[in-house]
Amino acid sequence: MSVPSFLRGLPKVELHCHLEGTVRPATFLSLAARHGVETRYRPSSFSAEQAGFVLERVDAGNVYDFRSFAEFLLVFAAVCRSLKLPEDYETIAGQYAEEALAQNVMYAEIFISPSVWLFFHPQLEVSLCVEKMRAVFDRYGAQYGLTVKFICDLTRNFGAESAERTVQLALSLQHLGVIGIGLGGDEARYPAELFARAFALARAHGLHTVAHAGEAAGAHSVRAAIEVLQAERIGHGIRAVEDAEVMDLLARKRLPLEVCPTSNYVTGAVKAGAPHPLRELDERGVVITLDTDDPAMFRTNLEREYAIVEACAGLPTAVRFARNAIEASFAEESLKQAMRDRFERYGAEVLG
Ligand SMILES: [Zn+2]
Repeated sequence: MSVPSFLRGLPKVELHCHLEGTVRPATFLSLAARHGVETRYRPSSFSAEQAGFVLERVDAGNVYDFRSFAEFLLVFAAVCRSLKLPEDYETIAGQYAEEALAQNVMYAEIFISPSVWLFFHPQLEVSLCVEKMRAVFDRYGAQYGLTVKFICDLTRNFGAESAERTVQLALSLQHLGVIGIGLGGDEARYPAELFARAFALARAHGLHTVAHAGEAAGAHSVRAAIEVLQAERIGHGIRAVEDAEVMDLLARKRLPLEVCPTSNYVTGAVKAGAPHPLRELDERGVVITLDTDDPAMFRTNLEREYAIVEACAGLPTAVRFARNAIEASFAEESLKQAMRDRFERYGAEVLG
């Protein structure tokens, strides 16, 4: 069996994927046209320079083009603005589930960003959107054994109060499969300290907590996610490589990183041509899992991320990272056991 087919068939767990970042370009264009919204978002306070470049002619091939992390966030916001009705969420959930099955995903914890949805559509009934997505995922669960849970992302840029409101919202959606909170957005300008209360509130009510850190800011931000937010997993976390003590802290606590290689190159978190720090982190004993972040926007998929690791660190490392993701997930023990069994069975069948 070839390496690409082996990686395609490998049973996978997906821990860091933003639902809004999975919207296919053609779907985004049709939603934007239907709701009469532009495919670029420019806050009125932005200068022409900050506003991102303008495309002469927008099509499915270039609608997700951007030149910097700031521009990427504007593209992400534009997609959220095109999601206006609960039915839209139903559509993208179905498309996500199809893609997850094509990647042999057994279990996924996907990020949703209701605070961004509400920013654009204050009247949106978030619970109805999540209900509709739950119904889609339950159908796929019954038919194909795919399990999908939600993590509500708090957006740093909206500040502490908004974060606490989003935690309350997440708590009200637990019966629909919301199992935790995350923290995304502008890491450099909105540090972890602002969100300590929101994270404590979530934890006190039994929600899991994860946080993006060490992507747009340095190793100190990873340390803050661990010590101030007590996050159970770190999104990206790759800039921990800048501080041996932070790497050792991650390794000692066995706090997994959700590493998204393509995303890191596309957003500039890792410079073009530079080796990805995942090997150094791995050698230092940090637990690594592999993810896509925003696969449609970054023109990638899970299989491709595993192929990147296979090419730079070898197949056993790629397989070990896939196995790490089962343990790093928030699945209950019986489900984890079922996933371990399926994983081992696949190895035994393929490798004989
Ligand atoms: Zn992310």
